[in-house]
Amino acid sequence: MSILVVGGAGYIGSHMVKQLATSGADVITLDNLSHGYRDAVRYGEFIEGDLGDAALLDQVFSEHSIDAVMHFAAFIEVGESVVKPAKYYRNNFCNTQVLLDAMLKHDIGYFIFSSTAAIFGEPEYTPIDEKHRKHPINPYGHSKLMVEQLLSDYDNAYGLRSACLRYFNAAGADPDGELGERHVPETHLIPLILQAASGRRYDIKVFGNDYATDDGTCVRDYVHINDLCEAHSLALKYIQDNDTSVQYNLGNGKGFSVQQVIDSVREVSGKGFKVTHDARRPGDPAILVADSSLAMSELGWQPKHTELESIIETAWNWEINFLAKQ
Ligand code: UDP
Repeated sequence: MSILVVGGAGYIGSHMVKQLATSGADVITLDNLSHGYRDAVRYGEFIEGDLGDAALLDQVFSEHSIDAVMHFAAFIEVGESVVKPAKYYRNNFCNTQVLLDAMLKHDIGYFIFSSTAAIFGEPEYTPIDEKHRKHPINPYGHSKLMVEQLLSDYDNAYGLRSACLRYFNAAGADPDGELGERHVPETHLIPLILQAASGRRYDIKVFGNDYATDDGTCVRDYVHINDLCEAHSLALKYIQDNDTSVQYNLGNGKGFSVQQVIDSVREVSGKGFKVTHDARRPGDPAILVADSSLAMSELGWQPKHTELESIIETAWNWEINFLAKQ
């Protein structure tokens, strides 16, 4: 099997490339390195370029016999999407359509799409299953939901089979310590706390401690990156075997509060660090937890890193390796 991973130099994409290559697939990464890193692509061929470049895609698909495409090359900062919606719609939606149209032109029939819990907007109930109302509250979520709609229409009209995988909070790192999370700027909770623990950051700010949760801090569903990647491989096999398109919510099904994550980092790292209480971050729901039972029953997906400590251990290992190389 030959798979094109678009955005394979980024956090989730680089882990996917490793998992595919080590399980015997031919992997080609296409990435414009706007947010990814060349040295994160440790397996397979690397092509530097943009998913919105139709001529380049034409060339890539002509020169390689590709069976399926996995797409991770999206902008992901919710706050930025509110002030720069053009950037988000252009890349996350318009460029994805360029990619899909190139696939159609070259008869490539399988597509795995990184979607997000942000397509649901404000949760009406928890845990969130696939039937939950889809009502994004920011351009990031809209841009992803628009691709989901496009994929549904492309399935009907052109027979392009796809899997939309809606991640809740992707977390952790490659257990071998080769790969990890390197966003600039970093906005995600776990890497920020790890940076505070390792001394790269002065403190960690807790955004709100008066939510209607057990300890007053927000609850999220952290799912290990390798478990997520496993779901991609299973979903690809499923849409190929069943000649169908699917949509799944992917999480651990367990919620952990910001305070629990902080406590776990203290425990795992053995380090003390400063914690500051700050105002709520606009747009943050109190609780976001996935109901992943559909992916589990249909794909046979079973997350292995179900304990927070096990996710944080891999991420802490990466943080230490990263610092040692500086
Ligand atoms: N959070 C926080 N301090 C930070 C970053 C995040 O308290 O410096 C909280 C945030 O309000 C949310 C949770 O941590 O409740 C997870 O945030 P993150 O940005 O990692 O992921 P999101 O849930 O927004 O996708």
